[in-house]
Amino acid sequence: MVLISSFAALLRLVAGGTTGVVLLSLVLIVSAGVSHYLDNWGVLFDKNLVRNIIDSDVREARELLAWPALLDLTLRGVLPAGVLWFLGIRSSRPAQTALQMTALLATAAILTGILLVTSYGTLATTFRNHRELRFQLVPTNYFNAIYGHLKGGTEMPSMLARVAPDARRPSNAADKPLVLILIVGETARAANFSLGGYPRDTNGALAGAGGVYFSKVSSCGSDTATSLPCMFSDLGADAFDVSKAQARENVLDVLQRTGVEVEWLDNNSGCKGVCSRVPTQQMPTSDVGDICHDGACLDEVLVPALEKRLSIVKGDAAIVLHQMGSHGPSYYRRYPAPGPFQPTCETNRIQNCDVGALVNTYDNSIDYTSKTIARAIEVAKSQASRMDVAVVYLSDHGESLGERNIYLHGLPRLLAPSEQIRVPMLVWQSQGTQRRLNLPQGCLASISGRSYSHDNLFHSILGFFGVTAAAYRPELDIWAIGRSESACEENT
Ligand SMILES: [Zn+2]
Repeated sequence: MVLISSFAALLRLVAGGTTGVVLLSLVLIVSAGVSHYLDNWGVLFDKNLVRNIIDSDVREARELLAWPALLDLTLRGVLPAGVLWFLGIRSSRPAQTALQMTALLATAAILTGILLVTSYGTLATTFRNHRELRFQLVPTNYFNAIYGHLKGGTEMPSMLARVAPDARRPSNAADKPLVLILIVGETARAANFSLGGYPRDTNGALAGAGGVYFSKVSSCGSDTATSLPCMFSDLGADAFDVSKAQARENVLDVLQRTGVEVEWLDNNSGCKGVCSRVPTQQMPTSDVGDICHDGACLDEVLVPALEKRLSIVKGDAAIVLHQMGSHGPSYYRRYPAPGPFQPTCETNRIQNCDVGALVNTYDNSIDYTSKTIARAIEVAKSQASRMDVAVVYLSDHGESLGERNIYLHGLPRLLAPSEQIRVPMLVWQSQGTQRRLNLPQGCLASISGRSYSHDNLFHSILGFFGVTAAAYRPELDIWAIGRSESACEENT
């Protein structure tokens, strides 16, 4: 009903006189054709398909045009178009048209509101689990596809804006490399970290690891496509915009330019452009012991990759591990079964699960993330005689687990509940790093209860490596903040 009233409102705009009849007939006939291939062939209509249609030859096209297709086209397209020609469309005054459109749009808005209130959970998970739906919706699927195809053809290669062109790093006077291991979490929310006060022991593996937990950190966005580029950008959450970020360098580019070895190890579905200009390794998606299922391996696959990368570090280095973390809705696939919290929700239709079981499943994924972080810290410890090393863990955004009937994530930041925005952050430093950066772990702990955000990451990474640049803001660098504490000055 929402779609019918929305489409009716939009089509009302063009419906008038002979032009309207011609346009609507065209929409009817093309829609019938598209629907036929969608219903009978499972064809998803996107811009690649448009290119394929344009590129196909007559023989290929003829193979697709069978009698059933023509019959379907006649019944669902030509016949309704014929009726439209027979009846015609009455022309109406602009005021009348506007009134009709407003009524239709209001109907759509009211219906949308009712649906959101009564079944947001079902809608959110359905659209999440069935991303193909938008390629199945006629006629917007082929409007979008044609638009996407035309736009793709005229896209200009954008110039990459330099960030911190004046960035300099003091030459390494120490005899050891300085190494930052940055673990980018996925869909981990602070609310379920026992280190931050959650009553269930989800961070047991990290209890003795000696890290400092930051309990009030907010994310830039509520989805990966926003948060990931934003975390590494100098723009900051307020000025952030995905296309703006794509057109400029990020902190990894700046580091690389100052001579830091940068490498991105990915066990997620890619880095959203952040690692475009730095060496990248995509983790295997199958055949690693028994930790891979359905085209993905559990996050512990990152540990040996980190070990291997660390063993060949020569100079100062930044190694990013991008986790699969708690990526939903199939939380039960994010850890080796059974997990400590039972019973669990073993389906991707999470709105059908009991909330308790859903939270158990999510908590199991956090427990497993804790183990992976702990193992990365173990690897770092084992190398601490050869390098000064720190491990930083920071999640990209949180998650809703049915609170107020909201699931998953991705609500606009202003509307997003705190569960989607509050993210966990943990910092571990080797003894050598604490001395070298002049910041004992206890000092870091003394500032860990303050409010931070993804905005702090860009400046903290620069600060960690001692990079000087006009773009660097020490007031956002957690190492600089820690060092400026009066209590810490006395300690050191
Ligand atoms: Zn994410």
